[in-house]
Amino acid sequence: MIALPDAPARAIERLEAAGYESWVVGGCVRDSLRGAQPHDWDLCTAARPDEMRAVFAGERLLETGVQHGTLTLLTADGPLEITTFRADGAYADGRHPDGVRFVGSIEDDLARRDLTVGAMAWHPQRGLCDPYGGLDDLQEGVLRAVGDPDARFREDALRILRTVRFVSQLGFAVEPATAAAMRRQVARLDCVAAERVCTELTGTLCGRFARRALLGLADVLGYVLPELAPMIGCDQRNRHHRYTVWEHSVRAVEQVPAEPALRWAALLHDCGKPACKTIDEQGVGHFYGHPKAGRAIADELLRRLRFSGADRDRILLLVEQHDRPLGDTAQLVRRRLSAIGEARFRDLLALKKGDAVGQGTHPEAIAALQAIEQQLNDVLAAQACFSLRQLAVDGDDLTALGLSGPAVGEMLRALLDATIDGQVDNTRTALLALVRARMEGTI
Ligand code: ATP
Ligand code: MG
Repeated sequence: MIALPDAPARAIERLEAAGYESWVVGGCVRDSLRGAQPHDWDLCTAARPDEMRAVFAGERLLETGVQHGTLTLLTADGPLEITTFRADGAYADGRHPDGVRFVGSIEDDLARRDLTVGAMAWHPQRGLCDPYGGLDDLQEGVLRAVGDPDARFREDALRILRTVRFVSQLGFAVEPATAAAMRRQVARLDCVAAERVCTELTGTLCGRFARRALLGLADVLGYVLPELAPMIGCDQRNRHHRYTVWEHSVRAVEQVPAEPALRWAALLHDCGKPACKTIDEQGVGHFYGHPKAGRAIADELLRRLRFSGADRDRILLLVEQHDRPLGDTAQLVRRRLSAIGEARFRDLLALKKGDAVGQGTHPEAIAALQAIEQQLNDVLAAQACFSLRQLAVDGDDLTALGLSGPAVGEMLRALLDATIDGQVDNTRTALLALVRARMEGTI
């Protein structure tokens, strides 16, 4: 039994009052049946788009995909996507159906959907429509392609990555024949736009069961992220590391907050290791220079996946600096804050904690990071000065004293360093006295 919110329930009533069979369908049915709150409600109906327009005349309707039979009804509960029962034609390009055929029945419509758990429909009076055993699979925690899995992944390879994402979000297992077909058809992902790949991968990284997806389907991920494939199975040969580079990174992923930039940074932080690996005479592995090498690899990967410049910069800073100590004195914390700002400092703390837990060998590192976090909070609470903006004097003050050109900026920077290092108080009087002394050459 699914309790429908008002908006979809009313929309179904209105469409059916006009003679068009209608259902809620797809992810919202799956999520309701597993006791989760759906993030949106989708309807499918026998009505064609022009017939939907007639039923909802006077309402706010958006033309979001008329050629595919989809209109979006704006309701008080949010947008409602309504799609005509349809079957997809052939897929020549491995991603988009060549044509869409409107079909008569809900069963035909469910047949075009990718996984059985998403190929169920629900109606307040008629109940569940489940021709592919979706409910059984949901109860068993199984992801199974609707129909012939090879054909389904060949039609639209994005489904391979949707399945990986659902493993991560739902914690389900992929049914063996479906998993085998994902692997056989993985090269079809070459046809899929980088942005779509990126969206699915980000969803995968942020899922509750990310580790299960990333370890269980590592080879599929290695195909779409070839830059990272050498991490898989890369033995670290080092007593500080219990896991391979890939497994260590995956464990770091699950330890950082489920925020896309942090999860990507955790996945990428050690991607430079395979290329930098050396083994010394004692047989111990070393990875000199891997943060810098990793930055270069990550930069290319993030550009290829069309990340925004801001996200890329944020992730690359983390990759490049993940191994550098944050400093364990208030002075070092202030210096670092001054260099990278509070937000990046907190990012680094999160990544370093994930990295430490992911290593599985250094529990004491966590306590040390917590101490640094406390230092950071203290520095911020004391409103200690760590940026030019917070300095009690500005460029105009220095100009008034007779400085000009680049000397102004250099002096401000020197004042900030002196403040951070505790050599001078951040007050106007003290700072101006220091400027005069420096200008007179007395210090
Ligand atoms: P979520 O919204 O949580 O990502 P979802 O299953 O609802 O998951 P949507 O992208 O909202 O995914 O799609 C709604 C429904 O449409 C799915 O449940 C599925 O039945 C079908 N669907 C979506 N994308 C595809 C696809 N690429 N191939 C086949 N069916 C699809
Ligand atoms: Mg959905």
